[in-house]
Amino acid sequence: MGLLKLKNINKRYTLDNKETFHVLKDINVSFSKGELVSIIGESGSGKSTLMNLIGGLDSNFEGELFVNDKDINKFSEKELDRYRKNTIGFVFQSCNLIPHLSILDNVTIALTLSNVSKEERIEKAKVALKEVGLEKHIYKKPNQLSGGQRQRVAIARALINNPDIILADEPTGALDSETTEQVLNIIKDIASKGKLVIMVTHSEKVANHSSRVIKILDGKIIEDVQKDKKKVHEVKDELANTSVDKRKEENLSFISAIKLAYNNMKQKLKRNILVSIGVSIGIMSVIAMLALGNGVKSYFSDMIDSFMNPLVVEVSMKQEQSEPTNPAAAMQSMMSTTPFEKENIDELSKLQGVKKVENGFQYITMPGTNKLTYKDKSSDLMVLASMSSVLTKDNVKDGSLPGKNELIVNDSVIKDLGSDVVGKTVTLNAVIDGQPISGDFVISGIYTVGESNQLSDGSNLAYINYSDIETLLSDAGKELKPTMVYLVADNEEDASDLKSTIRDLGYSGSTQETMGDQMLTMLNIVTIVLAGIAGISLLVSSIMILVVLYISVVERTKEIGLLRAIGARNKDIKRIFVSEAFLIGISSGILGTISSFIISILVNKASMNVFDMKVMNITGGYVIIGIGISVIVSMLAGLSPANKASKLDPVDSLRTE
Ligand code: ADP
Ligand code: MG
Repeated sequence: MGLLKLKNINKRYTLDNKETFHVLKDINVSFSKGELVSIIGESGSGKSTLMNLIGGLDSNFEGELFVNDKDINKFSEKELDRYRKNTIGFVFQSCNLIPHLSILDNVTIALTLSNVSKEERIEKAKVALKEVGLEKHIYKKPNQLSGGQRQRVAIARALINNPDIILADEPTGALDSETTEQVLNIIKDIASKGKLVIMVTHSEKVANHSSRVIKILDGKIIEDVQKDKKKVHEVKDELANTSVDKRKEENLSFISAIKLAYNNMKQKLKRNILVSIGVSIGIMSVIAMLALGNGVKSYFSDMIDSFMNPLVVEVSMKQEQSEPTNPAAAMQSMMSTTPFEKENIDELSKLQGVKKVENGFQYITMPGTNKLTYKDKSSDLMVLASMSSVLTKDNVKDGSLPGKNELIVNDSVIKDLGSDVVGKTVTLNAVIDGQPISGDFVISGIYTVGESNQLSDGSNLAYINYSDIETLLSDAGKELKPTMVYLVADNEEDASDLKSTIRDLGYSGSTQETMGDQMLTMLNIVTIVLAGIAGISLLVSSIMILVVLYISVVERTKEIGLLRAIGARNKDIKRIFVSEAFLIGISSGILGTISSFIISILVNKASMNVFDMKVMNITGGYVIIGIGISVIVSMLAGLSPANKASKLDPVDSLRTE
């Protein structure tokens, strides 16, 4: 019973012009273990084609090809990969060693594809290399060996998985006669150990070494001669099982794929560094834009918070929803506020979490309406507002919060009245609800919204106690109605709940807060737009990765063919290329993050000088986003080249020069 049996094998190539080319014609032959078969024939007679069929590199043929009574033409893709990996050892004319791997790694690559442990790999490789007499050269690179030595490495590689069948396609074709002799002796030795060796050769002399010679002409076997029966090794039955079954199914691990990818990338270090820098610029700009947006945003929200007591909720009266039609009307509706009625106050004071309700007002008026006079100086008030719990002692410098018959003013009023006015009595003339009033007040301090804030500097404002104005107005026979109320809550949680409750009831919240919210929304949009623009550079860099990996696929076509020949699955090839993309992604992500940190330090230093604030704020989240985007973008870009690589036809790939 033969190890290998070919029955009515026919192979046709379909050419570009749809014609078929009949290469192998009705091949019927069988081989046993221990045979050393030479196939001779003219160039173009179909020898390599036949070897590729036997080796499972090309399954597009007619007929049956039995290996241990299993028809490999019926194998699934997976079984075929396993067959190539474990049953077949290939030796090519041009040794097809991977130039950037050491001799050791070239030999162990087939084991790496089977996820064999490193120690076992090295141990087995050393045994195989010793068999071909190269144990002293294991750390050299292929180009540091002679042609004969290289071919011996290729033989060691073919032997490493202990295959049953060695296929050697003109193994001595490129060697001189002396090294030919060496290589032939090794091959004879292999056959004598019970393997089936099938060797293609041009040379009669080489053929003389073998136990059987098959002549092929025009795709037909024209002669099949047993030369020396004694050379056929007797194989014991227990050895007759192919290694396909004795090995547990294991494949290239992710770690090994990354290692292989890393090795590949080291070869084109400059190129890969440049690509990584390119990608990292994209990542850096995305992180920088997000950080800038975040920094500016938190600056503003800090500022808003700084002049807001978090326990106090400011409420304005329900607004009649008539859209102002022109700017003047809009101005008018902004400045005239509807007063609260008693039922409004009742409604608000019953709300969950309200501890106290304070009445208030805020009159924004044209110059000349409300003003303060001190000696011969006067100051027009743009804003006259009531004191409330919103203001704390943090809002006052050079003095204290206003008590009865006191008020506080801001710096721009101080500019009008002179800096000696603090502690002095001034006269307030105002028109409230159409009623002119007048009274004397002591300036108890200067209003401020915090160190870094200069927003209020432009407009003159004064804060005064609600009850003082109420008294002045009632002296004139009028009742003061609050135009805003302050709800004082027990805790911040209640306060923030109240903010949404009053909106649900139709009241408006604090104008400053509303404006602040709008500003934050705008900042958010601007941040997203900026990050989006930065994202375009990511698109460019992903195209760069795509191109570089495509070039890499083309450059390594032959290597890919070889890997397929020694049993790499489509998946393994894909995995190696995706791993390369992953490595580019992760290194650019890290590089991008580091450079965005450097940028933020520089920018913040500059902005501290100019605006007295840090404009960039990188968070841990951005670092994760940055690296994550980098990896995802790179791997997406790597998918298509990886697919291309994995779909390469092994026979065609090996043929490329
Ligand atoms: P050799 O005996 O020299 O190894 P091959 O098996 O390589 O010959 O080729 C046998 C014949 O098949 C040659 O005539 C060759 O031109 C043809 N051939 C090989 N590969 C292809 C292919 N992919 N498409 C068309 N014809 C091919
Ligand atoms: Mg050939």
